[in-house]
Amino acid sequence: MSIETSPVIAPGSTIGILGGGQLGRMTALAAARLGYRCHIYCPEADAPAFAVAAAHTVAPYDDPEALDAFAKAVDVVTFEFENIPAASAERLAGKTLVRPSWKVLDTAQDRVSEKKFFAGIGAATAPWREVNDLVALENAIADLGVPCILKTRRFGYDGKGQVRIDRAAQAAEAWEAMKGAPAILEGFVAFSREISVIVARSPRGEVNTFDVVENVHVDHILDTTRAPAQITQDQAERAAAIAHHAAVALDLEGLLAIEMFVDHEGKILVNEMAPRPHNSGHWTMDACITDQFEQFVRAVCNLRLGSTERHCNAEMKNLLGRSIEQWAEILSDPKAKLHLYGKLEARDGRKMGHVTRVFPRWKNEPK
Ligand code: AMP
Repeated sequence: MSIETSPVIAPGSTIGILGGGQLGRMTALAAARLGYRCHIYCPEADAPAFAVAAAHTVAPYDDPEALDAFAKAVDVVTFEFENIPAASAERLAGKTLVRPSWKVLDTAQDRVSEKKFFAGIGAATAPWREVNDLVALENAIADLGVPCILKTRRFGYDGKGQVRIDRAAQAAEAWEAMKGAPAILEGFVAFSREISVIVARSPRGEVNTFDVVENVHVDHILDTTRAPAQITQDQAERAAAIAHHAAVALDLEGLLAIEMFVDHEGKILVNEMAPRPHNSGHWTMDACITDQFEQFVRAVCNLRLGSTERHCNAEMKNLLGRSIEQWAEILSDPKAKLHLYGKLEARDGRKMGHVTRVFPRWKNEPK
């Protein structure tokens, strides 16, 4: 879309954000630095983003009156969380600008349409089968072999809604765990590394990727991100090309994070995508000229994208649950940058903050 048909949302305008978690909070902070106001819409009364935003609405995501009033109060709507009902995003799109388009949300929300999308752009994924009942699951296990992973098609995150199957005899138990939800069976990828790429595309068609990073998950939750990933230049280029290609094919107006596996032969397989800022991009706040949240704001507002140049290497670690109690110790480390999300209750596994440690770039590191 050209600049004529796709308006610029200038500083001083109000950005509406569906979702009020830490991603919304850090987006609102980045938006404020560029002179925007943010209005957060979220069903929880004590959402972390409220404390740093100009306005907020507490209402369910499918409340038509609250959605209509929100659309009137803002200049553009985006989201920081992808499990917004697509019908609500579509309703908003009838009344105001929604970036990225609700169609992107629709593709990313469903693991089957996501897999079909990646097949369509020639990007490999784990082998998969759609599973809607126990017989289909048994057939899919026979087809793909074990180990394999059964996942709900929708509403899964941080390993929720997933069961690993090591023996065909576990089929009934695994199907039971899906509680009747439509599912997908994926062949298990014996990966050597997990990597991710964040790409931005603006309505005027500029595309820019951040450096490829390496992620370590513990109990299915991101634990550590290292930037840059210790992969070959060729692998990094292939991963970035997949992200670039996906952003263009989706007509993305915003940010897209793509998680990928590198298998033992060096092949890259896409795992999943999220059309929003991503936990594996938090390091950019302390190591890049433009961080992922500012880039998100620039893309959603159709400004020129910023430079993603990395000025140092970085390691980001999530602070889950009570590990937040290390805050004072972290503050005394001169290489550490602490980011806290203002959440009052440190429940087990809850993302309370993160810390990024920065290091000089390696000598001889490719540009
Ligand atoms: P997901 O919710 O799909 O991102 O899965 C969470 C984590 O489970 C991933 O980051 C991987 O560590 C692991 N995982 C998911 N799918 C597969 C797969 N097909 N093969 C191997 N590991 C997987």
